[in-house]
Amino acid sequence: MKNFYLICMSFICLNTNAVNIAITFDDFPMPNGALFTVKERAQKYVDAFTQHNAKAAFFCVGQHCKNRKDDSLVKLLLTNGQFVGNHSMSHPRLSASTLADFEKEIISNEELLSTFGKVQKWFLYPYLDYGDNAEIGGSQEKLMGALDVLTKLGYKEAYSTIKNFDWQINKRMQEALKKQKNVDFDKLKKLYLDFLKGWIQHYIDLYKTVTNKEIVHTINFQDNDLNAFCMADILEMVKQAGWNIVSPEIAFSDLSWRLEVQNNSELLANKCDSLNCDYIDKELFDFNRSIFLD
Ligand SMILES: [Zn+2]
Repeated sequence: MKNFYLICMSFICLNTNAVNIAITFDDFPMPNGALFTVKERAQKYVDAFTQHNAKAAFFCVGQHCKNRKDDSLVKLLLTNGQFVGNHSMSHPRLSASTLADFEKEIISNEELLSTFGKVQKWFLYPYLDYGDNAEIGGSQEKLMGALDVLTKLGYKEAYSTIKNFDWQINKRMQEALKKQKNVDFDKLKKLYLDFLKGWIQHYIDLYKTVTNKEIVHTINFQDNDLNAFCMADILEMVKQAGWNIVSPEIAFSDLSWRLEVQNNSELLANKCDSLNCDYIDKELFDFNRSIFLD
């Protein structure tokens, strides 16, 4: 009995110390890329998450769904057990919009997405603009007003703690493919995974200094070819690093620490060197790496 107790205690301790990470996708469904069609990308995500017995939340933009004209895209995610959340109808910047338009954007997108199946009442702010960017018309009042709108509509905020510059790496990959360059995909994947691991560790450490709680981290991936190509290996890397992949449901169930963090924006502005497009380009185009060849 004593041994059983000790085993249980060590298991509980292990779990409390582990870092939990949930995975979200942004802007689904984006246009076809140079490497994959949007449908192929969706299938690759589903395969990767099925293989790792994990679930992600795909934040869909209504206008993107209309532009793609393919109802099977969102349905493919839903029928394979993935979550679909709301990312507004037209992806506007909240700081530059009114609260009335903010509300309309959420409601109209919910109506559209509901035609594909069950949609979660989770909202991911476009551009992660929370409404407080004074330069384009935002204010603290708008930020608080938007939270009231979410509460009124029964929504939870789909926050993001780990910044990801996947879009920059994908942009360079798309440019190279369009110029018919040879891309060493294995080297590209290795570099991207190294970057990701560093960014995740950076934000785990940073949030430890900002909150006193064990929070669930979230990392947001753009719907793009790079992520479709790498997702199975990304999930493997996260596990190998000793981090747990948890359901977005667990992440969005506790938002009690969010306002405390938003008031610490100066601290969170602290970035590591590699969260920078020039730095990423320098590594991508390093002669010795030969990722993009003529
Ligand atoms: Zn977005």
